[in-house]
Amino acid sequence: MGLLRFLLVLVVLRFVGRAIAYAVRRASSSPARRPAEAPPQATAEVLVRDRVCNTFVPKSRALRAVVAGHEEYFCSAACRDRAGARAS
Ligand SMILES: [Zn+2]
Repeated sequence: MGLLRFLLVLVVLRFVGRAIAYAVRRASSSPARRPAEAPPQATAEVLVRDRVCNTFVPKSRALRAVVAGHEEYFCSAACRDRAGARAS
């Protein structure tokens, strides 16, 4: 009788312990994962496309040039020169 009650307590404790561990894992993983998936700075930065090499460059770091009267953005001076642009 005493052994049966001891085993019952053991099973309940294991169940409760597993439930707590699950709750703690869920609570600690969700806020830690969110900033890694969507950094606020990266989403706020406007990306412009370099049509020469087809890469997207942050507008603040892109090279701006005028090609045939149109303003365009490039990742590097090499791409800008390949597009036949004049530096502005
Ligand atoms: Zn490029």
